[in-house]
Amino acid sequence: MMPSAGGTRVRADSRLECRICWYVYDPAEGDAVEQVPPGTPFAALPDWWRCPQCDAGKDMFLPLDADNGGGSHE
Ligand SMILES: [Zn+2]
Repeated sequence: MMPSAGGTRVRADSRLECRICWYVYDPAEGDAVEQVPPGTPFAALPDWWRCPQCDAGKDMFLPLDADNGGGSHE
């Protein structure tokens, strides 16, 4: 089952940056603080996930490479 995305278009390999403390979530690394395994897309993070540095919610994160894509990889 695939959860339907709410509206934000974030690719599975997109990194997102916290706009409060500039922490960058990298799906390739996951989040050791919250025990998120490497390879977890931002969209797959649980709703309770928060910035490990400043405790901001997921909606405070902005995609780093939103309009910078070049490859048509799905
Ligand atoms: Zn933060």
